[in-house]
Amino acid sequence: SDKSDAIADGVLTVGTNAEFPPFEYVGDDGEPDGFDMALIKAIGEKMGVKVEVENMEFDSLVASIGSKIDVAIAGMTVTDERKNMVDFSDPYYEAVQYVIVPADSTIASASDLEGKTIGVQLGTTGDFIVEDIPDATASQYNKGVDAVNDLINGRVDAVIIDKNPAEVFAEKFGDDVKVIDGADFDFEAEEYAIAMPKGDEALVSAVNQALKDIKEDGTFDKLVATYIEQ
Ligand code: GLN
Repeated sequence: SDKSDAIADGVLTVGTNAEFPPFEYVGDDGEPDGFDMALIKAIGEKMGVKVEVENMEFDSLVASIGSKIDVAIAGMTVTDERKNMVDFSDPYYEAVQYVIVPADSTIASASDLEGKTIGVQLGTTGDFIVEDIPDATASQYNKGVDAVNDLINGRVDAVIIDKNPAEVFAEKFGDDVKVIDGADFDFEAEEYAIAMPKGDEALVSAVNQALKDIKEDGTFDKLVATYIEQ
């Protein structure tokens, strides 16, 4: 059947990992907040379904889709590996991995990362990049911010993480760190999208239609201005 349970029962259960500002973080009221949360709520409104958010580890989101959660929105990059397990919505944001290093580090280009210990968030595209760097060791964390803390403590030489969270996390450490554009390391452009159960065409088309409507009526740009470009 191409009928989506999530639409039929009127509740869209959404998985996220609220450790990825400005896309998702725990707000002052203890609930997940951020660009992705506002976006999925706007999508749910267009679809006429209630949105319920489950905060979980990033690394378990994909496997939970179709069982514990209906969809995941978590600054999640579309990759071929993930496409074997889930379907993605149309992309909604362009991203790239950035590199955070101590202010006095000499790391400036791809070859400088060889043989280094690199902090990453477990199961992310930053983690996958380290697998391809000769002799580099990934230090994997459940929270990206913990990787940055260990950079400050000298336990890792660099952190590879998505551009926007890199800027948010680094801000806290001011002049102690440098944030370097992934283009200097030849990292590829990435696209964020909403992950859904494989083959649920009804859900994919409803989500894409809602996303399109939100872009056309100005809601999307407003959310970008509120959460990302401030
Ligand atoms: N964009 C990265 C990925 O999809 C990181 C996402 C995240 O940590 N929330 O793997």
